[in-house]
Amino acid sequence: MDWLGKVHIRRTKTIRFFESSSAILPCGGVILNEFDIVIKNAKISENTILDIGIKNGKIQKLGKLDDGLNTINAEGRFVLNGFVNSHCHLDKSNLLDRMGEGQFGKSLEENRRLLKEVKSTYSKKDIENRASIAIEKMLSKGVTAIRTQVDVDPTCGLVPLEALLEIKKKYEDRVLIEISAFPQEGVIGDEKNELIEKAIEKGANVVGGLPLVEDKSNQKKHLNNIFEIAKKYGKSLDIQIDESNDPRTSMLPELIKKTSEEKLFNRVNVTHAIALSRFPTKMALGYIDEMARLGMSVIVTPSANMITRFVEESDVWMRPSNSITRVTELCDKGIKVSLGTDNIRDVFYPFGNCSMIRELHMLISATRMTSKDHIEKAFEMATKNGAELLGLNYGIESGKDADLIITNSFSKIDILNNDEIVLCTIKNGVIQCIHESMLRRDN
Ligand SMILES: [Zn+2]
Repeated sequence: MDWLGKVHIRRTKTIRFFESSSAILPCGGVILNEFDIVIKNAKISENTILDIGIKNGKIQKLGKLDDGLNTINAEGRFVLNGFVNSHCHLDKSNLLDRMGEGQFGKSLEENRRLLKEVKSTYSKKDIENRASIAIEKMLSKGVTAIRTQVDVDPTCGLVPLEALLEIKKKYEDRVLIEISAFPQEGVIGDEKNELIEKAIEKGANVVGGLPLVEDKSNQKKHLNNIFEIAKKYGKSLDIQIDESNDPRTSMLPELIKKTSEEKLFNRVNVTHAIALSRFPTKMALGYIDEMARLGMSVIVTPSANMITRFVEESDVWMRPSNSITRVTELCDKGIKVSLGTDNIRDVFYPFGNCSMIRELHMLISATRMTSKDHIEKAFEMATKNGAELLGLNYGIESGKDADLIITNSFSKIDILNNDEIVLCTIKNGVIQCIHESMLRRDN
């Protein structure tokens, strides 16, 4: 059973992993298994439990099916498409272990200074090791596709990009990785600008942006520069904007204007957009209408969004708390909102366990998306919407990619209420991870 690596799985009544590769007919002929994997009794909606037949990396058939080459009994548990982590920073992940006591929870400026210090010690090997730890953990928690930002700036050059390109190749059969060239130190100045271009030429998929990192007077120019690069290389943009909910510092109106002027329809994604939550509703809805017209999409990173705050503490009106963007209003206007973990155990955010279920819980709580319909929408954000952003062939239907997870729960609410356990992760029709609780049942 080399497809499971070192894991040894015992035969049980409820979960049968066995290589019943063929049956011998009396005449000596052989019937090959119709499916590589069959997931028995998979709950795919509140009222539908069926078997899923997987062959050659695709979902081939749904219904009442015979055993496959390998058979897993989900016993009525929810089976979802794999989670898509639409925004994270694999190159910075797990830096916490090398930070000194009291080096987190600082101001943005102090965090940036510390990051520069830490980055000057980066090596490719080091980045690959830390990123691999994060990816393995994501896989065990049901993530089958990732869009990661990668720092591209004069401090680290293209070292993190090169490391992540190797990691992407190493994991290409296990998880899809898309890379966004992220100007952590800005794009004003020839060197910084050229580095982003080089990153795209070397294989980054998307042009990133972070206007906040520039002086106020240069934030518009930052947008101009990254739009030029995106147009030159025919790439999409993924711009981190409005990481605080202070509407006085919002760059969203400027970004909408720029997207409209450049006519970059369906090519601009906004990550965060938190200030939208504190614009007066009428004004916010006007911006959202424009975003919908331009085909802009939005990524929310709930846990990180809640703690990011850049407002002066002396400002009583803007107490140092944050919020999440207007998710329900964005969804109501048809804007695709997807979900990411953002930073994982690093200088900016010392927490995170790579769990999209944890992010779903935070999202639903912070935005009060507690109705049945809203919970459905939230799960779509963590799966389908992210897949659309990355151009994946997603859905639980015949012909779609076999990127599936077996959850530990019999309802969507209980996926949120139970431990953040994913029992099995399947990518491209191959089992990538299986939870030990599935191996212990012996009856
Ligand atoms: Zn981020």
